[in-house]
Amino acid sequence: MTKISLKKQILDSNDAVAATNRKLFDAHHIVAFNVMASPGAGKTSVILSLASRLKPTHKVGVVEGDIASRIDTEKVIAAGYPAFQINTGGNCHLDAVMVQKALSALPLDDIHILFVENVGNLICPANFNLGTHKNIVIASVPEGSDKPYKYPGMFMKADIVILNKTDLMKAFDFDLAYFTHGIKILNDKAPIVLTSCKSKRGIRELANLVIAKYRKNFANHNFEF
Ligand code: MG
Repeated sequence: MTKISLKKQILDSNDAVAATNRKLFDAHHIVAFNVMASPGAGKTSVILSLASRLKPTHKVGVVEGDIASRIDTEKVIAAGYPAFQINTGGNCHLDAVMVQKALSALPLDDIHILFVENVGNLICPANFNLGTHKNIVIASVPEGSDKPYKYPGMFMKADIVILNKTDLMKAFDFDLAYFTHGIKILNDKAPIVLTSCKSKRGIRELANLVIAKYRKNFANHNFEF
C-alpha cells in the first residue's frame, strides 16, 4: 500500500467515527467546540473563563487532550465542571476515536456546551475531524504576530480566532494590525476576539458567540437560552 493511500484510509476511518460523534452530540443537544492552539497559549484558561461566564444556565463539559498528565483535567474538575482526560502518549493531536471514548465517560445529558481541548500544536490537530461543530483557534501575544503567516492551515479552518493574553500587548510590542491582516487574508469569516483571562477582556463577547451557535443548532430546543 502506498503511503498516500494509507493516509487516506486513516483519515476516512477517522471521519466515519467523527460522524458518529456528531450524531451523539446532536442527539444530546450538545454544541461541541474543538479548541486548538500551541502549548501555553491559554486554552484551559480561556475555557475556564468562558465556562464561568456561561454558567449556570449553559452547562459546560470539557475533554482534555494532552500527551501526558491530568493537570488540566484536575483544574477543570476543581472548578466544578465534568471533564475527561485523554493522554495521547506522544501523538500530537486528538482523533475521533479518542473523543468517542471520552464521550462514553461524560454525563452527556447534563452538558450543553462541550469544549474539546486539543493537544498543544498548531499543525496536526487541524487535520483530524473530531465530529465537533466548530473550531476555536487561540493565538497568544507572547507567541508573536506572525503565527497566521507561518501556520496558515490552522487559521484557515478556524470558525472563531482568539488572540489571548492581550494584557501583555505593550510589553511584547505586539503588531496587532499585522496579525489581523494575516488572519483576514486566510479567513475573512472567522471573528477575531481579543481576550485576556486576567482582565476578562473579550470573555463576554466570546460567550455570546458560543451561545449564538447553540441557539442556531437547537432553535427548537426548550432551554431558556
Ligand atoms: Mg491546557
